[in-house]
Amino acid sequence: MKVQSIMSGLKKKHPGEKEYLQAVQEVLETIEDVYNQHPEFEQAKIVERLVEPDRIFKFRVTWVDDKKRVQNNIGYRVQFNSALGPYKGGLRFHPAVNESMLKFLGFEQIFKNSLTNLPLGGAKGGADFDPTGKSDAEIMRFCQAFMYELWRNIGADLDSPAGDVGVGGREIGYLYGAYKKLAREHSTGALTGKSYGWGGSLIRPEATGFGAMYYVERMVKQNKDKMEGKKIALSGFGNVAWGAATKAVELGAKVVAISGPDGVCEIKNGITKEMIDYMLEMRASNRNKVEDMAVKFPKDAKFTAKAKSWSVKCDIACPSAFQNEMSEEDANMLMKNGVKYVAEISNMGCQPGAIAAFQAKGIPFAPGKAVNAGGVATSGLEICQNAGHINWTAEEVDAKLHKIMNDIFDMCVEYGKEKGGKINYVKGANIAGFMRVAKAMMAQGII
Ligand code: GLU
Repeated sequence: MKVQSIMSGLKKKHPGEKEYLQAVQEVLETIEDVYNQHPEFEQAKIVERLVEPDRIFKFRVTWVDDKKRVQNNIGYRVQFNSALGPYKGGLRFHPAVNESMLKFLGFEQIFKNSLTNLPLGGAKGGADFDPTGKSDAEIMRFCQAFMYELWRNIGADLDSPAGDVGVGGREIGYLYGAYKKLAREHSTGALTGKSYGWGGSLIRPEATGFGAMYYVERMVKQNKDKMEGKKIALSGFGNVAWGAATKAVELGAKVVAISGPDGVCEIKNGITKEMIDYMLEMRASNRNKVEDMAVKFPKDAKFTAKAKSWSVKCDIACPSAFQNEMSEEDANMLMKNGVKYVAEISNMGCQPGAIAAFQAKGIPFAPGKAVNAGGVATSGLEICQNAGHINWTAEEVDAKLHKIMNDIFDMCVEYGKEKGGKINYVKGANIAGFMRVAKAMMAQGII
């Protein structure tokens, strides 16, 4: 495999699909050496097959808003690779959603799901629908209209979507209600992130954030350091940041920043339990403003409009909102302020220049596909419970999640060790994730 020639071919075939091309390039560059040690991969054209989705569904979603106006959106499901199991990955509702974004996310999902060691293929979907300012009834009608199209293409053994940006427990409830009516069966494994009591798993809402902090804890320990007292800057204030803040505080760290599209809230003395609880209310309000935190807790949180979390002094920086949210400039500012570790919780949260800057200065950097894999892993555990008609306790789920994250960390170390003992977590995650998929594709023949 020659990365340059594969990339130039892809650029011609998919012009302008920037995020997708960025994600593919990062993976290919890190697996190139290992790949070339396996001539059988080259012969079976594993990489050429892996970079193209199995199929993409693209559909019109028409619904009526509260003012009785007809609205049109575009919906998608990218079924990328099913070598390891039924397609699995979230649904994103955000105005910037397009095919390139979902292809990048679906591609990343293949490797992330592989790292969990569970039988999960890779997929992603969503719509260019903007939940900001929408009423509950509008959200419900949109979810129903979206499912009119999607329902035939999902199922417990086919493709099991979940939440992502803009899709939480409420949306999954509405989507599942519509799915059940259209499919005429109560097949809980067809969607994950359901509420507890009708097929959902305990700990699923917290899982991405909890898993991320389990990973970060190992990274810190690997460097003979400890979590207690560490200042953590998170971005966003959604479900992921909420779970991460909860676990970070439990591990003795201090969350000193959260953010939103409107700016950043600096929390000098560290986030409190009341503030973490309030994050849920802020998200449910659909206002999408982090300033609300400073209005509610004026003594503890200081809001700065337009600024990002990366301007706040911290020991550990965790992008947890959106792709490419951290630039090289942000990375340099963080390093100037003494950042010691960086772990992406959002998928591809850092721009390539930011990652290169951290790696050049020897700052341990871990990629989203490893750090945030606890979410989809717990979705896998939800499917297991659905299939067995059982409910595990929160402790049982948490223990399994913790073990999966420990195993992912160990794999990243094993495959990411470089000369001189330094660990390249990006390389480790990509190679470990790739090898499992490649072996399955080889075993399943040319198809
Ligand atoms: N959207 C989450 C992710 O990217 C969760 C996916 C899932 O649970 O299927 O991993």
